[in-house]
Amino acid sequence: MTGGGEVALSNITMVYLKLISYIIYAVLLLGHTRAYTRISDESLRAIPGPGNEFDIKSGKLLAPVLRPRVPGTPGSTAVLNHFVDFFKTSLPKWKISFQNSTSKTPATGDSEIPFVNMIVSRDPTWTTPGEVSRLTLVAHYDSKLTPTDFIGATDSAAPCAMLMHTARSIDAALTKKWSAMQAEDIGVQGFLGIEEHKGIQIIFLDGEEAFLSWTDDDSLYGARSLAAEMESTSHAATSTYHNVISSISLFVLLDLLGEAQPKVPSYFQTTHWSYQKMAALYKRFRDLEVFTSTGGANWFPDVNKIAGPWMGGLIEDDHMPFMARGVEVLHLIPHPFPRVWHVMDDDGEHLDLDTVADWSLLVTAFAAEWLDLDGFLEAKNVGSNATSAQEAHGTRVAGRTEL
Ligand SMILES: [Zn+2]
Repeated sequence: MTGGGEVALSNITMVYLKLISYIIYAVLLLGHTRAYTRISDESLRAIPGPGNEFDIKSGKLLAPVLRPRVPGTPGSTAVLNHFVDFFKTSLPKWKISFQNSTSKTPATGDSEIPFVNMIVSRDPTWTTPGEVSRLTLVAHYDSKLTPTDFIGATDSAAPCAMLMHTARSIDAALTKKWSAMQAEDIGVQGFLGIEEHKGIQIIFLDGEEAFLSWTDDDSLYGARSLAAEMESTSHAATSTYHNVISSISLFVLLDLLGEAQPKVPSYFQTTHWSYQKMAALYKRFRDLEVFTSTGGANWFPDVNKIAGPWMGGLIEDDHMPFMARGVEVLHLIPHPFPRVWHVMDDDGEHLDLDTVADWSLLVTAFAAEWLDLDGFLEAKNVGSNATSAQEAHGTRVAGRTEL
């Protein structure tokens, strides 16, 4: 007898629930729109350039990476230590972790070669691990076994240095923003903060290169191991992100960058929106005359692309094991590849350092916009009486050098 009543009640309840869910959805949508606001010109100008720290002989960031660093060799350990020293000394708020694996390779017989991935991250201070999504910036730090003494400056020493620069350039702004949010109780409770649980991680991957020749088994050693481990590492059952790999909001992979006038296609339809964000920032840096590299060809020729063919999947790289597990990928790799690809000329001397510096600004701006750091990036290094953006850039580079 009470059954009918219950059905009627639950119908009404359903309507209310639907209404409430629409309201929540609208709030989330609003929150999302607000969280991804366009970064201001002032903030773009405030992003420091790497200055002489990308010098190939003496630069604090790049020079130590420009050496052979084949997995399991002293060169690899030295480069890893360079990353560790940098984060421990300059960026102590970043959490450092390592993910280890070993594998035989077709070129090294029965020896188990060690592969060490390094992950550095910063999350909002109030969050627990399953409640934060992480913008994930990635490059591989290993170098190819052959030819002997191959450096791999674009592949991917320079991208590693760019990511170090990005971490350093947003560090203070992250601290300021999260402190301000906590002071206002935002992020601690309710929906007001739900879209703000955004962290960042940078992954330096080992073992991207094939030892003999590229196959599914002889390549991506570090990425395959890390993706599998991230997938099998669960968060608490009630978490928003149920395992570590699902916490990756976007996997931005930098590879083969450092040659002048690169052309980066848009590879994936599902992340074309993020490609367009990057392309828009690129255009603004050019228009502001902040970039110092030779202009001309657009680095992002597919910015206005609306339909296929999409090249996703044609280029095998560290994103593959992650993409196979449902991770969204923005692949920043030029096509065609640099002229120096996999030959001895891929060394420091053949880098276009203006292009390397501009990439580091661009990736930093993308991360700053993603993390909504507008207003928190310090502009103090920009000359107050500079008469042009170019002068402001020069002043900022000088300011950076002092650090
Ligand atoms: Zn390579």
